[in-house]
Amino acid sequence: MNELDILAFGAHPDDVELGIGGILSKCVQNGLKVGIVDLTQGEMGSRGTVEERKKEAEEAGKIIGILVRDNLCLKDSEIQNTPEQRLSVIYAIRKYRPKIIFATMCEDRHPDHHNAHFLIKEANYFSGLYKIKTEHEPYRCPTLLFYYPYYEVKSPNFIIDISEHYENKIDALKAHRSQFFNPEYLGNKTFISSERFWNSIRDRCAYWGSRINVSYAETIYTIEPINLSALKIII
Ligand SMILES: [Zn+2]
Repeated sequence: MNELDILAFGAHPDDVELGIGGILSKCVQNGLKVGIVDLTQGEMGSRGTVEERKKEAEEAGKIIGILVRDNLCLKDSEIQNTPEQRLSVIYAIRKYRPKIIFATMCEDRHPDHHNAHFLIKEANYFSGLYKIKTEHEPYRCPTLLFYYPYYEVKSPNFIIDISEHYENKIDALKAHRSQFFNPEYLGNKTFISSERFWNSIRDRCAYWGSRINVSYAETIYTIEPINLSALKIII
């Protein structure tokens, strides 16, 4: 049985941890079956090889406690909402039949994050069509939620308290040794690997926490009316 409660899509192998690592950690502790599907191997990243990033992503997933982490091996920096790429996403949705999907929110500065938003949203719709034949039965996930990996471009719809799961999120991010601030890793200097960016992860969670009077929080977006009771399993 492959079915998951929560399936989180990232464009690159660290997006999910950056955006909703705390929420997923909370879901796992609540007893939910959680999986991550990365769309690309992050091969266009300025630091880290595909092999390094694969190992790092697997380790980060274990730290959060997810059941599966797949990679659709779409081309990094070439995510587009095409029939071919939708079919790859449909395969994952039908295989895991999640109750809730998380995907990247639109208008993010990274075009892959922006394009992945529409790719996953539309793939989920088409995943329900019987005349699109794949190995698994048609299935359309009823609840789509969205997140930003780096910072909030829009005002969020929900803020989730992750105070008890913040350290787990940070530990998962530290597993991405080649990507973030790490004086022991020799690689190209990038904004993402700067100490300033590393500190901003904490500042961001603390800011959204302050908005609901808790220590740390993460944000969620919706783009259409959703059944509020569907969210009971993640809060
Ligand atoms: Zn990314």
